[in-house]
Amino acid sequence: MHQAGDLPVEEFRRAGRRAVDWIASYLSHPEDYPVLAQVAPNELRAALPKSAPEAGEPIETVLDDFEKIVVPGITHWNHPGFFAYFSITGSAPGILGELLSAALNVNGMLWQTSPAATELEEVAVDWLRQLLGLPAGFEGVIMDTASVSSLCAIAAARHALSDLEIRERGMAGRTDVPLLRLYTSEQAHSSIEKAAIVLGLGKAGVQKIPTDDEFRMDVSELARAIAEDRAAGHRPFCVVPTVGTTSTTSIDPVRAIAEVCESEDLWLHVDAAYAGSAAIIPEYRHVLDGCESATSIVVNPHKWLFTPIDCSVLYTTQPDTLTGAFSLVPEYLRTAVDGQIRNYMDWGVSLGRRFRALKLWMVLRSFGSQGIAERLREHIRLAQLFAHWVDEHPDFERLAPTPLSVVCFRARPAGLAAAGGSGTDDANAALNRFNETLLRRLNATGEVYLSHTDLRGVYTLRLAIGNLRTTEEHVARAWELIQREGRRLERDEGSS
Ligand SMILES: *Cc1c(COP(=O)(O)O)cnc(C)c1O
Repeated sequence: MHQAGDLPVEEFRRAGRRAVDWIASYLSHPEDYPVLAQVAPNELRAALPKSAPEAGEPIETVLDDFEKIVVPGITHWNHPGFFAYFSITGSAPGILGELLSAALNVNGMLWQTSPAATELEEVAVDWLRQLLGLPAGFEGVIMDTASVSSLCAIAAARHALSDLEIRERGMAGRTDVPLLRLYTSEQAHSSIEKAAIVLGLGKAGVQKIPTDDEFRMDVSELARAIAEDRAAGHRPFCVVPTVGTTSTTSIDPVRAIAEVCESEDLWLHVDAAYAGSAAIIPEYRHVLDGCESATSIVVNPHKWLFTPIDCSVLYTTQPDTLTGAFSLVPEYLRTAVDGQIRNYMDWGVSLGRRFRALKLWMVLRSFGSQGIAERLREHIRLAQLFAHWVDEHPDFERLAPTPLSVVCFRARPAGLAAAGGSGTDDANAALNRFNETLLRRLNATGEVYLSHTDLRGVYTLRLAIGNLRTTEEHVARAWELIQREGRRLERDEGSS
């Protein structure tokens, strides 16, 4: 009965039908599950044997256990009540792209190791470039995440300091390398600082620029910090503004920042992981204003472009600097066509590359630019509607502008806000605790999942809309639950 080789193809066909049927039912009723997994730590581990089976098991049994043991421990990012972090969608065309890409199992390290993988990547990222309204000089590459895209961009920015010869000589032990400085706002994503750590620039290499009252980078503070660093003998090399910050989706003034970069000769890397996609909506193209002057920019189709995770696109107008930083070709990776084609292994850290372009291409074709714009527009409309409900309610307040599809707010029941005198530290601490408990209770309902952030000491609830299955009904239900749990919590606290 046991034979060498893969699962017999007929068994695959049967199990494959079952898996696709399961996916189809799942996508039609993700709300049958609690959105946030209601499991305790180690529950799944306890349900499975300590070691792998010695004898192979029927795939049907394995699929049974997927449903019985794995799914209950899943937090459902495809649930219409998922409003946490940045809400995303594994869309049907994207899922099919993943399925086919797994079947082909190509490693797109070289053009020759799968010409279609490389060329479809060139096509898909160029289509997306056009949809974003970026000029033709931008060349794109697909990475796994924005964290890695930004890491590679910052490595390229450092490589552009050619006189330092860091690729050849490294940085450690050298007295002739000044402190290299990168500027980003205090609202920037942690991946920027992490990249600096990985690249040996250290946290000391990152200067966090203050933001204005709408959480956007203060450009005069940026100019001042650069001047101070130059006076101190440091070496500014890169500025990383954010289009759509993680906490509030604020949009840094990229055009003004670009002027600073131009006059100071600095690499301008724009982190537009979430909000870049909004530029596909013609009337929102302005979110990328000034980005035509960037040296590099990252946009994540796996954030707000319905492509299953992972898929991040890094664009740069200096592909030669990027490949100059990363290309290292041993004899066994040389091919006869090098020089005529693009070998994407030269564009980043990893040699092996998944065929991610397939799903992106399938998403772009299946929805079309108009279809994408309509869907994004609807998400923005829903967020604006929710923001309006918050603004109208006496016991709630909005804590940041809502330029796109994320709303920052908190409960502010009159009784609590007055405790210790409105606006005092005591009152704020009480409100922070209240909202933290409110969030925990909301997420325990299993109907919605929201997350939080800190805005200048204020515990802030975030409602992010970005899933294709989220409708006005789901947003209204979330608002109902938020008010209900708020009232219950107020009552419970009042009686204690
Ligand atoms: C989500 C996000 C990131 C990190 O994205 P990954 O792809 O998970 O690494 C970075 N920057 C911004 C602005 C983001 O919204």
